[in-house]
Amino acid sequence: MIDRIVDAAQPVEEPQEVELEVTLRPRDFTNYIGQERLKQNIQLAIAAAKKRGEPLDHILLHGPPGLGKTTMASVIAHEMGAQIRITSGPAIERAGDLASLLTNLQDGDILFIDEIHSLNRTVEEVLYAAMEDFKLDIMLGKGPSARSLRLDLPKFTIIGATTRTGSLAAPLRDRFGMIHRLDFYSPEEIQAIIMRAAQILHVGIDKPAAAELAKRSRLTPRIANRLLKRVRDYADVNGDGTVDRPLSHKALALMDIDELGLDAADRQLLVAIMENYNGGPVGLETLAALTSEERGTIEDFYEPYLMQIGLLERTPRGRKVTPKAYRHLGKHKDEQKTKPTLL
Ligand code: ADP
Repeated sequence: MIDRIVDAAQPVEEPQEVELEVTLRPRDFTNYIGQERLKQNIQLAIAAAKKRGEPLDHILLHGPPGLGKTTMASVIAHEMGAQIRITSGPAIERAGDLASLLTNLQDGDILFIDEIHSLNRTVEEVLYAAMEDFKLDIMLGKGPSARSLRLDLPKFTIIGATTRTGSLAAPLRDRFGMIHRLDFYSPEEIQAIIMRAAQILHVGIDKPAAAELAKRSRLTPRIANRLLKRVRDYADVNGDGTVDRPLSHKALALMDIDELGLDAADRQLLVAIMENYNGGPVGLETLAALTSEERGTIEDFYEPYLMQIGLLERTPRGRKVTPKAYRHLGKHKDEQKTKPTLL
């Protein structure tokens, strides 16, 4: 897979980027821009839990990568005055790993499990009882002499995050008291996120430039922050460090990100459907083969945004590109090849 600037799921690796994530991550609700309905619901739940002196109910957050699920979990912990442990589905390989995480928690602590859809069955089953009754069932020994032991656990809160609710086992989903979807942000919210980040990073950026970056950030905070950082680099090298609209244009052109925030890989995906399948419908497997990407990458990363901005449609027979996509890429559908509809 190619390294993409606009990949919201791309792990943060450079030390500089880790630092960036830490400083830019909002700590409280005031600095958490957008997602108003989610914030209102969570704030209500926090107030109620505090009033009753109880831990928060378990919360499941779902939505495309980079929209602020991890950030929301840490804001919740901050507002609850609780400690947060962060782990992920693939990191919890055995029931024993989960047991040691859970037994090390204290009352009121939050355990954040990213990619919770990829927990394996055995771990999931241990988690059910833990979430429901705050009990941990463990087996001691093997064979006929094996016996099971029930341990009391502290009253913790699980915050699970997933890009795919569809892949979550129903019994696990049912154990969350609150299930919330994070939506793409509006361009104005992304612009506000960029202005906030610019202030923290001491980048001089004017409003038109922030609006330009916002338009191309796939309505995703993580990408907005990343583009800001790259444009800042460009401004430091090619200008006096301040970012205005003409400069941001040049920097984004260099990164090959177009006005809708599409990069070469997105365009290649759309063109592949247009040229090989006359616009579709085409199945997910075929798309994966055409673009040499994994199914999951297409489902989690490409599709949600392309569908959000109306370039791609999901139909019962597969994916179709829209007339808007043809216009955006300056291509024409070959009407001759389209099967005539029977009247
Ligand atoms: P996810 O867990 O959904 O993949 P993150 O919570 O890691 O996304 O968010 C990615 C980055 O985007 C964070 O480091 C933070 O800087 C920024 N971010 C996310 N949501 C917001 C928001 N609502 N307001 C401001 N910045 C945000």
